[in-house]
Amino acid sequence: MKYLSEFRRHDLAQQLTAAIAAAVRPERQYRLMEFCGGHTHAIYRYGLQHLMPANVEFVHGPGCPVCVLPAGRIDNIIQLLAQHDVILCTYADLMRVPAGGRNTLLKVKAAGADIRMVYSTQDALKIARDNPGRQVVFFAIGFETTAPATAVALQQAQAAGLANFSVFCNHVLTPVAMQAILDTLQPAVIDGILGPSHVSSVIGSAAYSGLAQQYAKPIVIAGFEPLDVLQSVLMLIKQLHQGRAEVENEYTRAVTPAGNSKAQALLSRTFRVRPHFEWRGLGLLADSALAVHEDYAEFDAEQRFAMPAIQAADVKGCECPAILRGQKKPQDCKLLGKACNPENPLGACMVSAEGACAAYWAYARQAA
Ligand code: SF4
Repeated sequence: MKYLSEFRRHDLAQQLTAAIAAAVRPERQYRLMEFCGGHTHAIYRYGLQHLMPANVEFVHGPGCPVCVLPAGRIDNIIQLLAQHDVILCTYADLMRVPAGGRNTLLKVKAAGADIRMVYSTQDALKIARDNPGRQVVFFAIGFETTAPATAVALQQAQAAGLANFSVFCNHVLTPVAMQAILDTLQPAVIDGILGPSHVSSVIGSAAYSGLAQQYAKPIVIAGFEPLDVLQSVLMLIKQLHQGRAEVENEYTRAVTPAGNSKAQALLSRTFRVRPHFEWRGLGLLADSALAVHEDYAEFDAEQRFAMPAIQAADVKGCECPAILRGQKKPQDCKLLGKACNPENPLGACMVSAEGACAAYWAYARQAA
């Protein structure tokens, strides 16, 4: 199958659904975590949870980069904007994520801060070139998928001697988060994992082999289309029945065992691994995030400006941390659809395009 529509074919979905129904054993539960927000959206959007037998349950995971960013990092930037005359370049998703005290970048922009929404690191570089008299800070966020674009921007800035450009680096690492989830949820809250696909195209499917063995959990790298998800569920169920806990790759059209070696080399040249980084919902995790490499220190916003660690509390009653750990679902949050909705999001899971609460609100609440 080469084309997008073929991964949404109704007849093939029916065949896969029938195969899943025939494969499951009535006496057991199958709790399958979809690590990525993209999978959560595919599941809700196409109603895949309703196609599953009653004993197959999808458990949402932490794979949404906006959702796992702790409020304190947004407070860092708000403080920076208050103290320095900088232009902040950021993706639109971050504008409404609640920081400490329910402040947001959107409110700060409305109060006069110079915040520009960009679509890529290249937009941020252009703004820096066009404004040589101002400091321009790019708010970098995302898993291993988006980090290479930030790496390219750092290299270009250095090559061009772009002295007014810097990066506030918040790139995070997927395998460490998966390990934290497996540690948190031990002994057996989840039975298998639909593994990240875009991230895996960079780091490779073999990056999870140790985790599958250590925790005895099968992992299937899954594409984001509905047939990808259904096929991956079937692969997980087969592994469970066969007593295997291996990494299998359903998304072979984009992911190889070793991943993209050029992108990996780029990342190791321009970033270093942070000793610790705080994740919303998962707390402080060792070796779980990237910082700008010393060779590019002059383009590191955290070195150019004083940016102390800030602890900021999440909104009271918001269940985002438990949802990101796979322990609760959006419908378990008492604020859902009341105080919290897409027009007035109280937590990151409602703000982000990849968030579980946003997906539930957009696609699933009428069917619940
Ligand atoms: S509904 Fe809103 S407040 Fe509740 S968990 Fe989701 S984002 Fe947080």
